[in-house]
Amino acid sequence: MRTKQFKAESKKLLDMMINSIYTHKEIFLRELISNASDAMDKLYYHSLSDGNTGLSRSDLEIRIDIDKENRTLTISDNGCGMTAEELEKNLGTIARSGSLDFKQNNEKQEDVDIIGQFGVGFYSAFMVSDCVTVVSRAYGSDEAWKWTSRGADGYTVEPCEKAENGTVVTLHIKPDTDGEDYSTFLETYTISSIVKKYSDYIRYPIRMDVPSRRLKEGSEDEYEDVIETRTLNSMVPIWKKNKSEVTEEEYESFYREKFFDYEPPVKVIHSKVEGAVTYSALLYIPSHAPFDYYSKEYEKGLQLYSSGVMIMEKCADLLPDYFSFVRGLVDSEDLSLNISREMLQHDMQLKVIAKSLEKKIRTELKKLMETDREAYEKFFKAFGMQLKYGVYENYGRNKEAVQDLLLFASSAEKKMVSLSEYVSRMPESQSDIYYACGETVDKIDMLPQTEQLRDRGYEILYMTENVDEFAIKMLTEYEGKHFRNVCDDSLDLSTDEEKEAIQAKNEEAKDLLAVMKEALGEAVQAVRFTNKLKNHPVCLTSEGDVSVEMEKVLSALPNAGDVRAKLVLEINASHPVAAKLQALFDSDPETLKKYARILYAQARLIEGMPIENPTEISTLICDILAE
Ligand code: ADP
Repeated sequence: MRTKQFKAESKKLLDMMINSIYTHKEIFLRELISNASDAMDKLYYHSLSDGNTGLSRSDLEIRIDIDKENRTLTISDNGCGMTAEELEKNLGTIARSGSLDFKQNNEKQEDVDIIGQFGVGFYSAFMVSDCVTVVSRAYGSDEAWKWTSRGADGYTVEPCEKAENGTVVTLHIKPDTDGEDYSTFLETYTISSIVKKYSDYIRYPIRMDVPSRRLKEGSEDEYEDVIETRTLNSMVPIWKKNKSEVTEEEYESFYREKFFDYEPPVKVIHSKVEGAVTYSALLYIPSHAPFDYYSKEYEKGLQLYSSGVMIMEKCADLLPDYFSFVRGLVDSEDLSLNISREMLQHDMQLKVIAKSLEKKIRTELKKLMETDREAYEKFFKAFGMQLKYGVYENYGRNKEAVQDLLLFASSAEKKMVSLSEYVSRMPESQSDIYYACGETVDKIDMLPQTEQLRDRGYEILYMTENVDEFAIKMLTEYEGKHFRNVCDDSLDLSTDEEKEAIQAKNEEAKDLLAVMKEALGEAVQAVRFTNKLKNHPVCLTSEGDVSVEMEKVLSALPNAGDVRAKLVLEINASHPVAAKLQALFDSDPETLKKYARILYAQARLIEGMPIENPTEISTLICDILAE
């Protein structure tokens, strides 16, 4: 018998595949099982169109057998089988030269996972075996054929005996090497896990003999070793069922099992879409962030199925970054219509699905916010930061998509509010959206600058996370209302007369303020009297784009540049200390300078900023106390 060569390009691809290191060798089993399932589909539809009613789906099954001694793994089906010509044609050529071109043009990307991306199907068997035999008998034929190959060298086809139609693929598993434990593919446990992972929803039963122990008949404590034939796959995917057929518990237990979460999700989104692209999606919004969520290790993505077969564990393209917390899966039949099971991962259809999912997730989250605020707040506690990054990322490209999902702590009722809630109850006199930044809500409440707003009954949004103010700056406005930091020096809510009065006062006290400014040097841009404050003697505001809070965040970053807020020291014009300053200016300018330094240090402390010279300040205070 002459060994035939594979077609030239098949040989190259085969070589490449066998010799490259693939991260997911286990997918060979998925490929062989899918082939078996396809072969049974073909037979079944064939028999339907022939009017042969003798065949029922329940007669069709896939069997897996392990022979550890001979190191073989066998996958059998009773599907359509192949004639000698079909064996030649189907297994002697790798028809999709497209994948070969792809690899050649992408030599630099060494870790391109060809199998993962294009599914070279049957040939993946050579990743784990050094010899593959395929015994097949085509339906309706009385001949059977045996195809044998040891890999790139070629293959033989010879006649053989087989009682029934169908195909038996036997893999002789490679010996273990230093880096690779091939023997694991001879363990029932490994095989059943791989089947569960990739082929759980194949609609034919996948059966395997599994060693097990059971109570001896008639005995209460004596066990015996037995072999049980188990069906490894669950066959009906939960997402293919109608919503009304699935209970909440089923959704939840599926989630726990599949995504290994110990807490139930805050929201399940189950949708079936028919149209340009038909797909089912089962999505979960987790109720807490995985431990690695806000780290580089976390990988976003949804499982991608093509007609019940998992073709990708984490398809990142299906989710935008700001929804990276969503877990779940998408199954589309449209993907399976293509010859290559996996080619479509890079297809337009995927983009269409991703777009429609994004919209769906957004609408569902919005609905949750409106109908179950408690659940939404739980969700927001876990992932709100991600949404805020979503506003900020990519120069705000997605800000409109995300802005209505944001919540902020607010001075009104001390509750979390959305921007739309805030705007909807703004009094007529209020033109801007006010926010204040600080470490905690309580600390912000103590900021002197918030007094003037509270007095007027204006609501303030509290920004307590580092990303907050950056997100707000990116938004710049919401429904035409601008965001205003209450610590912005230009924020002045007083009447025109009041403004004029304070301006006059500052003009009059020009020389006094100049002495104070001189005492503070470059630390501040200006010193001035203000009518913003009620009880507090001083506050610090900032001029321009960098606020006090941003300075804190930016200077805490590694390799922080010297980003400084331009500070203005504002002194309460109606506080007794103002009069004292005036008196000192007239009688004792040196002491006035000391006062300036102490007041500035106080203002920094109130803002939660460090003081650079605590000893000096302490000495100054003691000097004054001792007088
Ligand atoms: P794909 O399944 O993606 O078309 P494969 O390399 O896995 O590519 O298989 C090539 C062809 O071999 C299949 O299209 C099918 O016609 C045939 N084939 C493979 N396995 C079987 C099987 N178990 N029964 C019948 N035909 C099969």
